[in-house]
Amino acid sequence: MCQICDDLHETIRIEHPYQYYSIVEQIKTMLQEGILVLTEGNCDFSLIDRNKTFPHDVPYHVFKCANCECRFGLCVEAYHGRGGSWEVIHN
Ligand SMILES: [Zn+2]
Repeated sequence: MCQICDDLHETIRIEHPYQYYSIVEQIKTMLQEGILVLTEGNCDFSLIDRNKTFPHDVPYHVFKCANCECRFGLCVEAYHGRGGSWEVIHN
């Protein structure tokens, strides 16, 4: 953990689609700012948009802090837009 990703270490349970999109929009900004780097995913993260259909039934993406080795996973069950989470990946 470093100062830059300190705020991201809180686990967020996604219970509503708007929560997921809100996180996606924050991450897109952090990707643009070079704070996070997308390292893995099962669909195109840039295609996830509240005005579009999901590009995958269970979108899953992994991001890395650009400044340290911390990694974070974001997933959601697209059909219901809930049952997902944002969390630190411990391994
Ligand atoms: Zn960090």
